[in-house]
Amino acid sequence: MTRPSKAIIDLAALRANYLWGRSQQQGKAFAVVKANAYGHGAVICAQSLADVADGFAVAFCAEAVELRAAGITNPILVLEGCFDIDELHLAQKLSLWVAIHQESQIRDLEHANLDDDSLHVWLKVDSGMHRAGFALGHVKLAHERLAKCPAVASITLMSHFSCSDEPEKSTTLDQIKAFEQATRDLPGARSLSNSGAVLAWPQAARDWARLGILLYGADPLPQPVEKLIPVMTLQSTVFAERWLEPGEPIGYGARFVTNAKTRVGLVALGYADGYPRQVPSGTPVAVDGALTTIIGRVSMDMITIDLTPLPQAGIGSNVEFWGKQIDVNVIAQAAGTISYELLCNVKRVPKEY
Ligand SMILES: *Cc1c(COP(=O)(O)O)cnc(C)c1O
Repeated sequence: MTRPSKAIIDLAALRANYLWGRSQQQGKAFAVVKANAYGHGAVICAQSLADVADGFAVAFCAEAVELRAAGITNPILVLEGCFDIDELHLAQKLSLWVAIHQESQIRDLEHANLDDDSLHVWLKVDSGMHRAGFALGHVKLAHERLAKCPAVASITLMSHFSCSDEPEKSTTLDQIKAFEQATRDLPGARSLSNSGAVLAWPQAARDWARLGILLYGADPLPQPVEKLIPVMTLQSTVFAERWLEPGEPIGYGARFVTNAKTRVGLVALGYADGYPRQVPSGTPVAVDGALTTIIGRVSMDMITIDLTPLPQAGIGSNVEFWGKQIDVNVIAQAAGTISYELLCNVKRVPKEY
């Protein structure tokens, strides 16, 4: 038997999540497939959405190159834009839409000698996140310079939220207001919403949403408002088991000690596959559809689970680490991180579509 660990990707769920996300507002929607589609496989995910997606968004040009090479002809927005003039030529050649978030990118554009009307640019406004984008007072001038570039075919205005997954905070409303003020007299389409905003801030809806984590069925809100379908199931099977007497330690650091006779199941998946090492004993797993817990430390290649409460389970039983039974957000919380990081980190296991 080969190692039974895998990530099963439900492309029908991906599609349903995209269509649902887009239907939550009037405008069009990018499917954000950066970081290998948050660990789900960018090419296959994009191919499976290509007939419905208004466009795809990636972080940088090489990710877009991969999609074009795989035959994706939909619009592709490069969220970090181009790093130099060579990349601008690449973007022109591949018909990529590029974000412009700092002055040097305008300068490159002014010096790149591109064909007239060849490039759709997305001017990024820093409405309060203070990561990337033009400061509010510099947006008009940036827009003017872009409008004067013969290569620029259109200018869309975009911004990004820092706290859209925190519905009780007013930060998102402040950012919308700041964006509106800075762009009041400027023409062009607008794009503000990420997943959190689509779910929690309908007042942010503009011409284009950028749907990331919600595509993959992981609701970013603390209180999930809608039923998204998890796309990835990270699973394996029990491949060994043993009984331990009370008082016996399990695993590295001997961190967990049995307090009763315990049947321990061994599963061939570990932090080298992307399951977080930080989770404590007591973190849930689903075994043949029933809940039990991890006991002892997560190792590089193996995890030990408690089979005592599940007498029918044993060698060959299915173990789900996250997916439709175990919410990836629960595991993320146990690990002190967010679902995004867990999904992006999945590696080594084969993907099955
Ligand atoms: C990654 C990203 C998104 C998608 O965010 P989600 O929270 O996953 O929906 C949207 N916009 C920008 C600029 C991004 O970098």
